[in-house]
Amino acid sequence: MSRIFSGIQPSGELHIGNYLGAVKNWVELQRSYESFFCVVDYHAITVPYDPDDLRTRRREMLVSLLASGLDPSVATIFVQSMVPEHTELAWIFNTVTPLGELERQTQFKDKASRQESIPAGLLNYPVLQAADILLYRADLVPVGEDQVQHLELSREIARRWNARFGEGFFAEPQAKLTPSRRIMGLDGNAKMSKSMGNTVGLLEEPASIWAKLRPAVTDPARVRKTDPGTPEVCNVYHLHRAFSPPDVVKHVETQCRTAGWGCIDCKKVLFENVNAELTPIRARAAEVRARPELVDEVAGDGAATAQRVAGATMREVKERMGLA
Ligand code: ATP
Ligand code: MG
Repeated sequence: MSRIFSGIQPSGELHIGNYLGAVKNWVELQRSYESFFCVVDYHAITVPYDPDDLRTRRREMLVSLLASGLDPSVATIFVQSMVPEHTELAWIFNTVTPLGELERQTQFKDKASRQESIPAGLLNYPVLQAADILLYRADLVPVGEDQVQHLELSREIARRWNARFGEGFFAEPQAKLTPSRRIMGLDGNAKMSKSMGNTVGLLEEPASIWAKLRPAVTDPARVRKTDPGTPEVCNVYHLHRAFSPPDVVKHVETQCRTAGWGCIDCKKVLFENVNAELTPIRARAAEVRARPELVDEVAGDGAATAQRVAGATMREVKERMGLA
């Protein structure tokens, strides 16, 4: 069975962009692949944060992943900092990673531009990500589109390490994208991101979701209700494609092009379909939260399984590098 690995930062609440771009796909793939899903807390400390918040968010992220449908009886679900091999391999990869490649990463440039003082950890973020994936010698990485460039670098790191220390040792991991590979924030300005504060939480209450959806940006050409629209340029239409059944999506498309509906009518239908998908997830989250010992058990078992695989990889890596 091939292996998949993917991670999510506990840098905020799991949002519908994370869910549609990555986590929903994890749930679909977990039974067809040997799967490792990781809450990557060492990545989350590359930007300013509060320790108490991190502790809470790490736990809440595990709750959200379980509520989304990740099943610990088939997938290994764990927290990165509980498996020290991640940082060990990251250091090793730092010695084969070209600095220029790190400086070229869009996400580094973007996140660095929002900080006064730039920590080296932010630059080296993709090196740790390569270690996360390659420790498990995973060949597929289900992620959103924003991670494609980092994955290209992971392949480059694998190639460089293999060329020096062991041809064919690390597989070159490929990205696996969903149709909703890039969900925009409701202001339509930027990708929905935990760090941008433009998110709709997966576990958010319906009233709060509607308060965000109601004023959401749509096709700017639809100034009046009678102006026909172009669904393809509308973020709300793209959310319909992710949440609404195909016949509804078709109907939305027609109603938009013919100005049969105003944008509020369209948003109301979307809201119903968002609720249909998220209500059971919220209910499961409440069940999981009520059993804190279950979350500890999942994280403990996950770390033990992950460490067995990670430890075996590190032994071979050290052997080949003259470190053992
Ligand atoms: P941060 O702002 O802290 O980077 P984030 O919202 O980008 O947080 P990550 O933890 O960095 O979330 O990414 C987790 C997964 O979600 C990754 O696979 C990423 O590609 C995917 N993802 C993040 N944002 C989106 C989005 N807007 N649309 C689709 N996929 C996304
Ligand atoms: Mg991100």
